[in-house]
This record gives sequence, structure tokens and C-alpha cells, in this order.
Amino acid sequence: MSVSSNIQQIKSVLPPQVRLVAVSKFQPVDKLQEAYDAGQRIFGENRALEMRDKHGQLPEDIQWHFIGHLQRNKIKYIAPFVAMIHSVDTPELLEDIDRAAEKAGRVIPCLLQLHIASEVSKFGFNPEEALEYLASGRWQQLRHIRICGMMGMATFTDDQSQVLGEFRQLRECFDRAKERWFAAEEDFCELSMGMSDDYPLAIQCGSTMVRIGTAVFGSRPVSL
Ligand SMILES: *Cc1c(COP(=O)(O)O)cnc(C)c1O
Repeated sequence: MSVSSNIQQIKSVLPPQVRLVAVSKFQPVDKLQEAYDAGQRIFGENRALEMRDKHGQLPEDIQWHFIGHLQRNKIKYIAPFVAMIHSVDTPELLEDIDRAAEKAGRVIPCLLQLHIASEVSKFGFNPEEALEYLASGRWQQLRHIRICGMMGMATFTDDQSQVLGEFRQLRECFDRAKERWFAAEEDFCELSMGMSDDYPLAIQCGSTMVRIGTAVFGSRPVSL
């Protein structure tokens, strides 16, 4: 299947409120161009320098979403153009992004990444930690970031009930945060969950953005 028919097929099953983030990490630029030519405008990358390089080679109207663990010293490479950072996993990172955004003269939309999977290796706040951080009010001083919602990754497993349980946990945390701190904020509306293998379940649980790589581009090359 071609990239363009994969995109058409996925979009045909997405409800209208769910956006597709085409996860293009490790894919060469011509594959991204193919997706662009098929109408795709949101791309997800997980390495700052790779994203910066691709940004320089592809059309200006692409929205670049950062979805990986972001090192502090790399924020500056993407701050001038990144459309959203899904993977804010500590309060300190959010503060660093705020400073980089100020230097770039921008406000950067961010999502708090929650650790919902049973695997130990994945980054993110525990749901309680995220709510405690929001309760601390520290983020309210940050003028150059905007918290727009939450992101998470479910455990890599065939057990659908486990995956559903994890997505529901993320959804509940999002709902509690919305109710307590963002009820009047229209921008706090994004729930980034669902990948190639589990996006139908994520949509059932209220996802607004699915991050899909393999099902769009095929398997990833080992390196560029
Ligand atoms: C790679 C990646 C994806 C996409 O994974 P696929 O299984 O290829 O769809 C989604 N989210 C994050 C954070 C990723 O790193």
C-alpha cells in the first residue's frame, strides 16, 4: 500500500474531531513529501535535530509536532517553529521550553506526557504527579507556553482490556484537570493517544490526536 492510500484509509475511519499526526521519525524526506502531497499537514518527530533538518527541506505550512523525549539543550533547535510539544515530562522541561519560546518570540502549545503504561522505560508524569503539579500553580507564571492537554502511550500488549484501562486512566486525568484548572480555557482540549496498533481503542476513550507511524509509512528504516 502507498503512503497516500494508507492516509486515505486511516482518515476514512477517524471521527471528525480526531486529527492524524503522521509519525515520520526515521523516514526519509521523500516519504514525508509523499504524505504532504496526499494532503497530510501534521507530522510527528522524536528527535530535535532530525525535525529541524526536515523542517528546512519541506513546505512551510507543515505543522511539526514533537513527540519524543526532549533534551533541554536541544529545545532551541525547534523552538522557532514547532507547532506543539506532546512530550513534556517534567516541570523543569516546561520551564526551559518557556524560556526558549520567549527567546523565539513565541508561545508554544504543550501537552503533559503521562506515564500510563506498565513498562518502566517510558517517560512522563504519573497521573497524581501531573495533578499535583497543576495544583501547585507554577505553570501559571509561564507566559510563553500554553498547556493544551495531555499525551500518553499504552503498554505494548495484545491485552485490549489493559490498553483500554490505561487510556481511560489518561482520559480521567485529563477530565479532572480540565474541570479544576482549565474549564474556561478552550485551548485545553487535546488528548494525544493512540498509535498504529491501538488507535481504534484510543478513539473509543476520547482521543483527539492519534500519532500513527507504521500504518502510514510502513516499517521504519533503522537509521536515516
Ligand atoms: C514512534 C511513535 C509513535 C508511532 O508509532 P507506530 O507504532 O509506528 O504508529 C507514536 N507515538 C510516539 C511517542 C512514538 O515515539
